[in-house]
Amino acid sequence: MIDQDRTDLMELQKLDIKIQETKQHIGAFDPLFEEVEEPALILETELGTARTRLQEMKLEERRLELSSEEKETRRKRLDEKLGAVRNLREEAAVSAELEMVKRALQTDEQEALTLLDQLRKIEERGVELEAAYAEATEIVEPKRQELMDQRSEAEEALASLYKERQQFVEKMNSDELKVYDAIRAGGRKVAVAGLTEDGACGHCFSVIPLQLQNQIRHGTELIRCEGCGVILAAVESEVEAGSSHEESGGAVSGVQTPATGEEGDPIDQELVESTGGEDAEVESEESDSDEMSNPVDIGTDKDQDQE
Ligand SMILES: [Zn+2]
Repeated sequence: MIDQDRTDLMELQKLDIKIQETKQHIGAFDPLFEEVEEPALILETELGTARTRLQEMKLEERRLELSSEEKETRRKRLDEKLGAVRNLREEAAVSAELEMVKRALQTDEQEALTLLDQLRKIEERGVELEAAYAEATEIVEPKRQELMDQRSEAEEALASLYKERQQFVEKMNSDELKVYDAIRAGGRKVAVAGLTEDGACGHCFSVIPLQLQNQIRHGTELIRCEGCGVILAAVESEVEAGSSHEESGGAVSGVQTPATGEEGDPIDQELVESTGGEDAEVESEESDSDEMSNPVDIGTDKDQDQE
């Protein structure tokens, strides 16, 4: 029996990490969009302010025009009245009023000139801003489009990763999947880790008791690290890596060796084929034990062999 489900969990974890990375990648586009759009946005705001100001000034201009027209009418009437005065006192009164209206008209005229000057300036500024905004938009647009394309590409990738995950989990042991999902739901990135060559948890590196190591290697049941809680899986490369140290001899043969003969573990058989014989296999298994470089572990190994 092989730890098929644990291998699946390792694969699922790779997929989930890819999903997480893709999500982060998608999220990272937001500040990029802001950065690209910012100059045009600033100009847009400025342009909006200039337009509002222009409108206010035009209203002011209109108000001033009406006020001047009214004063002009009054002036004409006073002019006529002045030609028809009956005495000096009346003349003095009309003249004084006329003088006042004329001064008011002059003030209006001055105000109108100032306003006109301001209007012209703000109109010019408006034209400048519009040109700058158009230019900025033109520069921004391709960059924005490029970002949009990249983001939708990432979104498509995410969608297909989700689909891949969906298809993948359908074939999996649902109980183990539940354990796995619960660990990850806690916000942890690593929910499954391989057993290291020297029999430690591949995540927190706590040494796993030998009995549990064997259970993990044979995949009969789901074992979690007592140190960090991750699900432990046997890693194929662990066995393969052992074959490169054939020269290291002696020591004890692993517990797996007899099991190989009895259960026909496919991984071990593969090793027999690749190294050309049972002797080589035994040696490689020995080197595994050697690699543990943990006298306590080897001791336990011996004890179990003797039992
Ligand atoms: Zn651990």
